[in-house]
Amino acid sequence: MLKVDSIDVFYGNIQALKGVSLEINEGEIVTFIGANGAGKSTLLKTISGLLKPKNGDILYEGQSIAGKAAQMIVKQGISHVPEGRRIFANMTVEENLELGAFLRKDKNEIQKDFEKVYHLFPRLHERRKQLAGTLSGGEQQMLAIGRALMARPRLLLLDEPSMGLAPLLVKTIFRIIEEINSSGTTILLVEQNANMALSVADRAYVIESGRVVLSGSAEELNASEQVKMAYLGGH
Ligand code: ATP
Repeated sequence: MLKVDSIDVFYGNIQALKGVSLEINEGEIVTFIGANGAGKSTLLKTISGLLKPKNGDILYEGQSIAGKAAQMIVKQGISHVPEGRRIFANMTVEENLELGAFLRKDKNEIQKDFEKVYHLFPRLHERRKQLAGTLSGGEQQMLAIGRALMARPRLLLLDEPSMGLAPLLVKTIFRIIEEINSSGTTILLVEQNANMALSVADRAYVIESGRVVLSGSAEELNASEQVKMAYLGGH
């Protein structure tokens, strides 16, 4: 479904991604784990068209999307839930969700997706008239995911959905990620919480200082001494 082929991404003359390659097959949950500053957010921003790779290519369904406008990429079926949620604080929950569908014209289908999102996140339904800025951190994360789903993506890019959430909520969010995946959406998840990420993923990549240093099935990486020491608390 998605093939990232040896991309180099720079901020000015700082190189944030160095020859990064990956593949995602339809239906999978693939995770990228890595420490602060490893390049995880940069990778998602490059796939979703917010950054342009200097070298290398990104193929989605066999066609190059590298450097295309972000709107075009959303239209083609890739939605990005950015780190820190970026919801519109002065708009209601409902208005934020509407914005997620702004490139679509299929009114009836949009209505169906509203229902789906509210079914997935009953809390958002309860709070639909509330200003998004007054939601709790966990509710804002739900809204950010819900808004991305309103674009009806085939591939969902999730940037550290567990950040800043209490352990119980982290579990809830990951359960919902699995539910979204089992209803047919392919997922690329970047996380510092390697434990949780590996527990839901089919396959995983480890990124260090802008380079992929390890990849394999989630089981393989869970069992790897290198991953245990660096990312799973050494147990
Ligand atoms: P975190 O988990 O802390 O979000 P990350 O793995 O997502 O980290 P990135 O945000 O992709 O890391 O950053 C990768 C590297 O690029 C870091 O060294 C960072 O300082 C640098 N970087 C990120 N954004 C910019 C920017 N706008 N200008 C310059 N350098 C940047």
